[in-house]
Amino acid sequence: MHPLAQLDLKHVWHPFTQMRDWLSEEPLVIVSGRGATLRDAHGRTYLDANASIWTNLHGHRHPALDRALRRQLARIAHCSALGLANEPASLLAAELVRVANPARLRSPAAPVPNPILERVFYSDDGSTALEVALKQAWEFARRTRGHRRPRFLSLQGAYHGDTLGAVALGHIDRFHAAFGGMLYRTDAVMAPYCYRCPYNRARPERADARTYRVCQWECVSRIEQACHRATRQNRPYAAFAFEPLLQGAAGMIPQPDGWLARAAQVVRGHGALLIADEVFTAFGRTTAATRPPRSPQPHLFACHRESVQPDFLCLAKGLSGGYLPLAATLTTGPVFEAFLGEYSEFKTFFHGHSFTGNPLGAAVALESLHLLQHPDGLRQRANLETALTRLLPPLWHLPSVGDVRQVGLVAAVELVRDWPTRTPFHPHERVGLRVCQAMRQRGVLTRPIGDVVVVMPPYCTTPTQLRRMIHALIEAIDEVVPGNDEAPISSRTRTAQ
Ligand code: PMP
Repeated sequence: MHPLAQLDLKHVWHPFTQMRDWLSEEPLVIVSGRGATLRDAHGRTYLDANASIWTNLHGHRHPALDRALRRQLARIAHCSALGLANEPASLLAAELVRVANPARLRSPAAPVPNPILERVFYSDDGSTALEVALKQAWEFARRTRGHRRPRFLSLQGAYHGDTLGAVALGHIDRFHAAFGGMLYRTDAVMAPYCYRCPYNRARPERADARTYRVCQWECVSRIEQACHRATRQNRPYAAFAFEPLLQGAAGMIPQPDGWLARAAQVVRGHGALLIADEVFTAFGRTTAATRPPRSPQPHLFACHRESVQPDFLCLAKGLSGGYLPLAATLTTGPVFEAFLGEYSEFKTFFHGHSFTGNPLGAAVALESLHLLQHPDGLRQRANLETALTRLLPPLWHLPSVGDVRQVGLVAAVELVRDWPTRTPFHPHERVGLRVCQAMRQRGVLTRPIGDVVVVMPPYCTTPTQLRRMIHALIEAIDEVVPGNDEAPISSRTRTAQ
């Protein structure tokens, strides 16, 4: 066993990992990466089909990002944001405000003007970005709306991070139930999950369930009912937290077109603020090939694809291109102003982290935003999305594939025992995990969410590498759950090329 692996087994406690299983085999020790490739301590290479837990945008060791980081390192690595400003953090805040408020959404002709996101509060990761939004929304509701104990609404299956505030917004029992006693209560409302929606009257087909669903938008009605109930109880919601377009950790659950705009309108109609958790959906990940009509600039944020402008925009993961832990919570002038006052009034937002506004993270984030808006970057993402779309159809030939869903540069496959009835596998079969292990044998790394296997390529992934990722997925499913499909695997994968 590699000595680094021995040290890990002896001392490291890994997140979201059953350590008894972890300790039973030699762990993969990653020592370097380039582009979409990772190299381990034994010199083996792998494709990073999980974009290093959904963080990496442009690939590992991107020359421009590395240069930006070195340039900043030659000046200063860190200085406090408590009492001091710094150059990259100021420049990045201005650029974030610019890209988060596209002209189209600022139209004065709109019947109800959209909020303008004009203030940036930095923190370190996705959980803290949400924690900041929650605390600001809480205080805003108390100070300006007279809510004594503000109430929050979020989606069933929601995951917004692991700090206690973010956990309170989460509704995945397996992760969150144990900490229930430590949390304040939030309400959960039905999330759109067309593939498993009790209101979808369509019979399963070999196609994305969103495209053939038969329903009356009951999921939106449920939000309306929840808001009504809260208003009737004289305790309306202060804010609604949601992931736009795609609920990640819930199992890569895509929202049907129109859900976001409808849900936002309903919630706003009841006076609640919108907290958009774009920790993983932002920066073109879910909007690679989509751009507004007649605009040369693509959508960078998932919300904007449905012309929804939130009151809080929470960013992390890809904010620094996946290089460093950096997060930002963008919010509006009115929220900011609720915290202004005389020193002695103590209206200050008493929240902050030692590494808030870290100059290295901010410098690399600024460069990442430039890459994202460069025409080459746009073309690269659009081409990669098209290539991904073309590679996915052969998956439908596998009988254990229940649903194949793609949103931008995220593909997810839900594995089931029986697709005509959508019957899931039993958790103890660990089918998703075993498929990922079989992919690893083929040189492709990703992580399942239960029995949903995710492919999320870095944007620099070449067509050949993408084909390798999807072929590995198809072969791994075939190996772990041998099918009764008549077409041989070789002919199926060939059609994908
Ligand atoms: N929100 C969403 C939507 C996420 O996917 C995650 C992490 N997977 C988080 C928040 C928490 O981010 P972090 O792990 O950086 O704290």
